[in-house]
Amino acid sequence: MKITYLLNSGFIVKLKRLLLVFDDFSDPSHSADAEIAKGDFDNLYFFASHAHFDHFDPHILKYQESVTRYIFSNDIRRTVRAKAFPAEKVTYLKKYDAYSDENIEVTSYDSTDVGTSFAVKIDGKRIFHAGDFNWWDWDGEEEKLRRSAKLLFFRQMEKLEGLTFDVVFFPVDGRLGNSAEKGAKEFLRLTDTKALIAMHRVGYPKWEPKDEFFVKEKIFTWSPVEAGESVELEDI
Ligand SMILES: [Zn+2]
Repeated sequence: MKITYLLNSGFIVKLKRLLLVFDDFSDPSHSADAEIAKGDFDNLYFFASHAHFDHFDPHILKYQESVTRYIFSNDIRRTVRAKAFPAEKVTYLKKYDAYSDENIEVTSYDSTDVGTSFAVKIDGKRIFHAGDFNWWDWDGEEEKLRRSAKLLFFRQMEKLEGLTFDVVFFPVDGRLGNSAEKGAKEFLRLTDTKALIAMHRVGYPKWEPKDEFFVKEKIFTWSPVEAGESVELEDI
């Protein structure tokens, strides 16, 4: 599996002749253009986890000829930006919703912000893209708000607990300071995850987890910084 970083929470996943693009709001390295221009794929899916500008942008409409399906969270449906998309090519998913065809199985989960996160199964591989689902534990925020952020996060984790994922895209947001990796750490503790890709940290340096981050065994992590960086996961 080859993964290319676009920006923020934006990634391309290439597996055999399948291309998935997540949260492509901006692609300064033109990686999606280049990958799609190659044409060595049979099916192409675009995902957008919610309507925030840093996750969803209508420039992805330019790929509509090549796209098999746009899979968007339901909050996007109500935006002006969504109106330009061809209705017959778009599936809107509410939370705990599902979409499947002969190539792909998608299940949506709730977010702790807006929209959904996505669990995607392709060719026997399981991918999780969190969107803005995270333990948003802001340093210096009122105790009451921090308690409710924690509660929301763990309530959602109850639905994900025990699941197996080959690759997980999860926010490790630098703005959270000491709490940046709290959500990702709990996610790994409660699920069986093989590789973790850090996201939603534009403007922050490469994240290097310390040994104590890994509550269970140490797994592969990747924290891209430059748009267009990619990684090849050999055994996934
Ligand atoms: Zn966001």
